[in-house]
Amino acid sequence: MSKTSKQNIDCPKCKTPNDFTLYNSANVTNDPELKTKILNRDLFLFTCKECAFKTMIEYPIMYHDMDNRLIVWLLRDFSMEEFIAQQSMWFASGYRVRVVENLHELIEKITIFDNNLKDTAIEYLKRSITLQALMQMRNILEIYFTGIEKHEGKDCLAFVLVEKDSVNGAYHPLDGVGTLFTDYPEDFRELRDEGRVLVNQKTATDWFNEKDK
Ligand SMILES: [Zn+2]
Repeated sequence: MSKTSKQNIDCPKCKTPNDFTLYNSANVTNDPELKTKILNRDLFLFTCKECAFKTMIEYPIMYHDMDNRLIVWLLRDFSMEEFIAQQSMWFASGYRVRVVENLHELIEKITIFDNNLKDTAIEYLKRSITLQALMQMRNILEIYFTGIEKHEGKDCLAFVLVEKDSVNGAYHPLDGVGTLFTDYPEDFRELRDEGRVLVNQKTATDWFNEKDK
């Protein structure tokens, strides 16, 4: 089941009050259309009924994929300790649980697990792409995995790189990943408990530094 609630939001442009539906949880197995609306961001798009002004509203949501046994929470400002305690039911059911902080990361997680990849290994690749770019005096501000794409005739892991003045693609051939996806753990819990649910550039770097010691 998905859970929704209504919130009254004043249009930022004309100040007209609008009803906006928030999905507190989205069960995409029961309602696959919800998944489409998350991936194309429609679920977060506010359109004013009066002046048609459009803006994105990011709000906390629990993405629930029963087939993939995956839960991704888009959350900000919460107690990690309490959160992990609250998720015990899902851990016990063999679910992967993740926390992300923005909509880009939510879409990225969905894309990673839909492609049967490990997010820990993807974070490692993102880290090495960022470090390589740094050696070329390029500063990557954000980097996201976007899927598997054909590039120069090869199936590649595709990434989008956000830099100060440009957005670029990076491609990593699938036949060049070696044992990366078998070597990497399912999550970073061995580092500390929050590594069960936080798999991002920060925990990937911490995990790697720990291994390097
Ligand atoms: Zn308006």
